[in-house]
Amino acid sequence: MLRGVKSGLFTLFACLLTASCAGPGASGTNNGRPDMWGHRPGPQGFDTVIIDAGHGGKDSGATSRSTGQKEKDLALDTAKRLQRQLGGRVKTRLMRSDDTFIELDDRAARASGKSNTILVSLHYNSSGSGIRGPETYYWRVDSHGLATRFQRAMTSVSPAESGNRGMVRRRLRLTRNPDIPCVLLEIGYLSNPAEAKLCADPAYRDKMAAAIARAILDQQAKGDAGTGPLPRPINAPPSRPTDPPGS
Ligand SMILES: [Zn+2]
Repeated sequence: MLRGVKSGLFTLFACLLTASCAGPGASGTNNGRPDMWGHRPGPQGFDTVIIDAGHGGKDSGATSRSTGQKEKDLALDTAKRLQRQLGGRVKTRLMRSDDTFIELDDRAARASGKSNTILVSLHYNSSGSGIRGPETYYWRVDSHGLATRFQRAMTSVSPAESGNRGMVRRRLRLTRNPDIPCVLLEIGYLSNPAEAKLCADPAYRDKMAAAIARAILDQQAKGDAGTGPLPRPINAPPSRPTDPPGS
């Protein structure tokens, strides 16, 4: 279902034709309303968090060769832990609450058009066995403060030897296409045996969920305060499945 993306494109073209791009998204004061570009400071005082457990159903995501655990199961477990850790201090919606497959474009469309809402997508990573540590992906300017808080939070829980792989600004379907602040977390590398063992421990996942919850509540209370300067706005079209990797 590409409706959200198509309507976003239409808005973009209308914007280009009428030269009215200095709309609410560029003003920095959007009163929590959705905004296709996100060229504004990060949110404060939002009331809802959409928690997106990556993958699901036929799409397992990464599978650890050392523990056998699948990313889709760890992501869903962490999503439910995060919901519990938030403890009703902000409204939560789970993108999926069971082992269901949802297309990325459907996830983006379901998150779009919601006022005073942010999206956090939870994943576990895979690469060469020597690579480890949490990573945070964002693209929108209004997601930078949140991304900074998430990366700090995950790094505070992961052991020093995991290091800090930092934040990556990348135009992904769940960092570019929703018209609300949205951040994608790669909590740990299942391809690294030591980190896979940690991620297999429910107590570790609970600590991660607690830290991620604190980051959300800090952003809700303080906005971008203390998260450093905003990155430059980038005008780029919505991410599509046909885009080359890493673009
Ligand atoms: Zn994933």
